[in-house]
Amino acid sequence: MNIPFVNLRRHHQNLQPALTQTFGRIIDRGQLMGGEEVAGFEQNFADYIGVPYGVACGNGTDALELILRAFNIGTGDEVIVPANAWMSAAEMVSLLGATPVFADTDPAYYTLNADLLEPHITARTKAIIPIHLYGLPADMPAIMRIARKHDLKVIEDCAQSHGAAIGAQRTGSFGDAAAFSFYPTKNLGAMGDGGMVLTQDASLAQKVRMIAQHGQREKNVPVCQGRNSRMDTLQAAILRLKLPLLDGWNQRRQTIAWHYRQAWQENDLALPEAPAGFDHIYHLFVVRHTQRDRLAAHLRQAGIATEVHYPYALPAMPVYQPLADPATCPVAMQQANELLSIPVYPELTDAEVDYIVEKVGEWLKK
Ligand SMILES: *Cc1c(COP(=O)(O)O)cnc(C)c1O
Repeated sequence: MNIPFVNLRRHHQNLQPALTQTFGRIIDRGQLMGGEEVAGFEQNFADYIGVPYGVACGNGTDALELILRAFNIGTGDEVIVPANAWMSAAEMVSLLGATPVFADTDPAYYTLNADLLEPHITARTKAIIPIHLYGLPADMPAIMRIARKHDLKVIEDCAQSHGAAIGAQRTGSFGDAAAFSFYPTKNLGAMGDGGMVLTQDASLAQKVRMIAQHGQREKNVPVCQGRNSRMDTLQAAILRLKLPLLDGWNQRRQTIAWHYRQAWQENDLALPEAPAGFDHIYHLFVVRHTQRDRLAAHLRQAGIATEVHYPYALPAMPVYQPLADPATCPVAMQQANELLSIPVYPELTDAEVDYIVEKVGEWLKK
């Protein structure tokens, strides 16, 4: 068997008739930017998450930048970000001249360890960016409590958590604003790039929209420093088509994760965990083992692709070297050497899931 880490070909083949119809509609109308598809998807997605305002943009990294700009975060400011994560949040903080302050991750959940946040807060701290990593919500009740106490903004990075929830409340509706990515491999992905800012604050939504449109409030009259970031009409139409299918896909991921968990528990393989009431949507199924590279090699030989998310903790990356001290984030530093992502996408067949279960089990027994 040959099991790639993601299978977008299969994903799109399953949707082919509906996609063809959508492409046809866009060709017929001839409108390629903006319009009712983009406005409609903004509304549909905001409704799905449970917030009033959505502003579509070019990608998830832009969404983070637009929010930071709208909060006037820049030179002299500090923003707390998790040490184990995709780089976008830290990157946009430093792009704007502010300083990313790396906080260590939770040893079991891989998200921000809320117990370690307060010592990082200084007079310069403006915001915290919790990342719902791998599809598990960060500890939002604790993070919001700390943020409110110190008057900090909370920007949720939801690029891996479309539909993940704590109780009945979905990620993207806890903080002051949230950034989503619709990169093709995300739980809800476009056929290209896309992103969105969500917020409950009407004036913030307005400001984000203005910045994303060259700082224009009305056409040709920029009133603030802006930039250009937009979602094209075709991507919005595709995302609108796919949104009603998201919950089913997430449930399929959870079913696959359940099978893995049943098969691999009671071993020295650390399985993903979730606090009670936290709904993990398994953007990634990440295990941890001190012999991670050997497990990966065993699976590669069996035709099963794996990946590492992420091989370097952010404070250890060359770009942050003069600034960050990796020793302040020992958990993230150690985990970077032990994490391994196993395929978990909804298009995996039952036979493929069984095969993965068997091949990992085989290695664990050795
Ligand atoms: C994918 C991702 C992003 C960036 O999204 P893009 O659309 O690729 O810019 C940001 N944060 C996290 C956690 C991600 O996984």
